[in-house]
Amino acid sequence: MRYGTTNRGRAAKARLIPVLADASAIDCRDLTVRFITERRTVTALERVSFTLESGGFLSLLGPSGCGKSTLLRVVADLVPPSHGTISVLGARPEQARRSRALGFVFQDAALLPWRTALQNVELPLEVGGGAAALPKGAPTPRELLKLVGLDGWETSFPHELSGGMRQRVSIARALVSAPRILLMDEPFGALDEITRDRLNEELRRIWQETRTTILFVTHSVYESIFLGENVLVLAANPGRVKTVISIDLPKRAISRSAKPSRSCGSRARCARCLGVDDGRCRPPRQRTCRGGSALP
Ligand code: ADP
Ligand code: MG
Repeated sequence: MRYGTTNRGRAAKARLIPVLADASAIDCRDLTVRFITERRTVTALERVSFTLESGGFLSLLGPSGCGKSTLLRVVADLVPPSHGTISVLGARPEQARRSRALGFVFQDAALLPWRTALQNVELPLEVGGGAAALPKGAPTPRELLKLVGLDGWETSFPHELSGGMRQRVSIARALVSAPRILLMDEPFGALDEITRDRLNEELRRIWQETRTTILFVTHSVYESIFLGENVLVLAANPGRVKTVISIDLPKRAISRSAKPSRSCGSRARCARCLGVDDGRCRPPRQRTCRGGSALP
């Protein structure tokens, strides 16, 4: 991810323009989205610019209502921009969607209850014309279930799976059409913290193994830093880029136990940008539970 800033006044300083001209996964310039309803006009996004390079992992962080989901929907060709341009893999979002270059994961796993885990993962292939259209070497639904840690659960129905397992199925389903870009809208927001931490680690591993470009929406400072190579912080009313923070931690060095201390500086910066008191940034205290293992 590369940025440059314009110097057209104070308001323009927060805007970021790409420095590299080569093909990017997502290239968004001066993007404005307005929703005009009978009662009011809402500027969900105002002059948002950023570039996400292929294979990158960008976290979108911001308070509720700042336009995070809207931005994902524009990339996915579900909402048209009011002004500005957006290019997805060098093409219009519509072309990217039609060529099945995009995968989407929502907060709700939205699985079909009458289909098994495997059948749910297979669904996009059935709807989209079968596996024949997939690139050579693309992982099969069974391989994807294994990738997300559900080996042996192929024949289970959604009601037999935990919330975390259902979300793993939805990630496998999103990956089944071998998308170049995965759009994730608070996918772990409804899960308990322990499951969420585990899935964060799983997602990092999946990203490293598949090298799929990921645009990940969250309002968790902690999650945004643990996952993203960069964190794009949005401000609300209207939704706009507040800052971009590069997470320059060696990814291999961030483990479950190392997270709190290693990422503390970046997390404090993100938290300050959001204007929130991030209590998790205090110096980590080592506590020991009964079984003797250290809790971060
Ligand atoms: P976030 O995901 O950051 O919580 P959203 O992108 O969902 O925020 O919404 C940004 C703003 O746009 C909010 O004020 C919301 O009410 C408004 N908005 C989103 N979608 C629509 C819509 N379809 N019609 C009217 N207003 C909308
Ligand atoms: Mg949202």
